[in-house]
Amino acid sequence: MVTYAAPLEDIRFLLNELLDYDGTVAGLPGYEEASADIVEAVLEEGAKFCENELLPLNRSGDEEGCIFENGVVRTPTGFKEAYKAFAEGGWTGLACDPAYGGQGLPKTLQFILEELICSTNLSFGMYPGLSHGAYNALVLHGSDEQKTTYLPKLTDGTWAGTMCLTEPHSGTDLGLIRTKAEPNGNGAYKITGTKIFISAGEHDLTENIVHLVLAKLPGAPPGSRGISLFIVPKFQVKADGGLGPRNGVACGSIEHKMGIKASSTCVLNFDEAEGTLVGEPHKGMRYMFTMMNVARLAVGIQGLGLAETAYQSAAAYAKERLQGRALTGPKNPDKPADPIIVHPDVRRNLLTMRAYNEGARALALWCGMAVDVAEKHPEPETRQEADDLVALLTPIIKAFFTDYGFEATNLGVQVYGGHGYIREHGMEQLVRDARIAQLYEGANGIQALDLVGRKMGQNMGRLLRRFFHPVQAFVDEQQGEPRMAEFVMPLFKVLGRLQQATLHLAQQGLKDPEEAGAAASDYLRLFALTALAFMWARMARVAVDGLEGERAAFYRSKLATARFFMTRLLPQSSGHFAAIMAGKAAIMELEEAAF
Ligand SMILES: Cc1cc2nc3c(=O)[nH]c(=O)nc-3n(C[C@H](O)[C@H](O)[C@H](O)COP(=O)(O)OP(=O)(O)OC[C@H]3O[C@@H](n4cnc5c(N)ncnc54)[C@H](O)[C@@H]3O)c2cc1C
Repeated sequence: MVTYAAPLEDIRFLLNELLDYDGTVAGLPGYEEASADIVEAVLEEGAKFCENELLPLNRSGDEEGCIFENGVVRTPTGFKEAYKAFAEGGWTGLACDPAYGGQGLPKTLQFILEELICSTNLSFGMYPGLSHGAYNALVLHGSDEQKTTYLPKLTDGTWAGTMCLTEPHSGTDLGLIRTKAEPNGNGAYKITGTKIFISAGEHDLTENIVHLVLAKLPGAPPGSRGISLFIVPKFQVKADGGLGPRNGVACGSIEHKMGIKASSTCVLNFDEAEGTLVGEPHKGMRYMFTMMNVARLAVGIQGLGLAETAYQSAAAYAKERLQGRALTGPKNPDKPADPIIVHPDVRRNLLTMRAYNEGARALALWCGMAVDVAEKHPEPETRQEADDLVALLTPIIKAFFTDYGFEATNLGVQVYGGHGYIREHGMEQLVRDARIAQLYEGANGIQALDLVGRKMGQNMGRLLRRFFHPVQAFVDEQQGEPRMAEFVMPLFKVLGRLQQATLHLAQQGLKDPEEAGAAASDYLRLFALTALAFMWARMARVAVDGLEGERAAFYRSKLATARFFMTRLLPQSSGHFAAIMAGKAAIMELEEAAF
């Protein structure tokens, strides 16, 4: 069994001391009641639920998996009861609009809760996670009738949702989809086609499932410009909101896969299933993208959640496991050996995980708070600024968090040695579960292209300035503070490198798009390291002032981890910078036949 306790102290530090949650989010219209105190109280309850209800089902869920029989999917033992308790506890509607029965709490809180859920049972989290995605699409783009029909049920969790995009021949390139939607004469549509890899496509947790399906209308423009979005419920919905007959959508099979085995991944066959159009024809991709942006942040948080469990488990194990002696002489002379935490290499693994996790959590909350500001701030200009920051950070959070999440869960196995590779301790499951997050919601290479190809040049670099300006301002502000020199200098240098790489790519990419494509993943990683350096320098700024107080030990740990990040992880930025500047030649030279 893994070791895990929700990192509430760190979250409190971020909300209250680093990011001024009360001044930024709790003052927004509609969130007046959601002070940091309230948020913390809700989180404490959420933490208990995750630790006591979800964590115990994580291993058994992985071993049992989902079962597909006679067109029906059974989730593993205990999932139904846990889901019922989750919905009854109001967790499915935490950040949903009170107009539909939600609790109307900030998205920031939702992000934090998602980390705790992913840390304790990622497979379970997929079911309410997908429902929340469907909720987001409908709240933004559904008609009033669609909203009143579906949103209260998605909010209280009696119905679940899905996102049906992928088809066998159409993954990244959704312009290739073949699913058809034909008007049936009464204002609705007949949907026909096959979708694959649909998470939560069929299960036994809810009485209905609301599929959001991408399909093409007759005569639609080719490619992604001709895609429309439809609601196709598993059971048709009667005028009074009750369940009608079964719709023409059926689960053909479920996938047997590497990880998240308790999350059903389904082939869905649509055979003249009745659906209703969301919004206008041919705008489906746009609608799906507004929802996918939120979903991409949520997937990034999956990486962080799993990495946190890997870290906590590995740290606890490293303090107990006795092997070898410290290089400087026995630390534990009464015992046959020292705990492995004395060894520099084990500490390097642990600190790598810890420094990424705490830096990533700070970045996630900075972005989560910007989501709330973008939605609720009374000033349009402030909303736009926050929205720009979210748009810029989304591909970075999705790709970087999930890449390092996989790396960190692997380091967790490394700390356990062979005991991490066998099933007993649950460490290998974390690696298997982490792998998918690098692939779905747009594979990580596609996130890098989004950053370089869309976000970088958008509005003449306006999105970039939302990040560069606060970093530069912080560096300027801290330059006269000697205690901060060890944190500010590396930040200053990496910011310069990132700006140089940005300019280089903007020039090269205009001449030759392959130059941008070849550099994209290194650029995303360089950007992410800079963003984490900014977070670590800001955390260090708070910590240096707290060293004399009663929480001195907490701040000392922050500073030690900040030093590790700046001196042992941030230097990777030089490698990424060099790779970007090397250009595409070495990538494109080898002839296809030689591969
Ligand atoms: C467990 C699981 C759950 C999933 N859940 C859902 C779901 O709920 N709903 C849903 O609709 N889908 C879902 N998916 C599908 C998932 O989103 C796709 O697998 C993913 O988008 C990639 O598509 P693909 O697998 O067809 O890969 P491909 O598109 O074939 O890509 C293969 C590789 O080529 C790269 N590539 C492709 N095109 C480009 C390009 N233009 N430039 C650079 N690189 C490129 C990709 O990055 C990737 O590495 C799920 C998949 C899995 C495995």
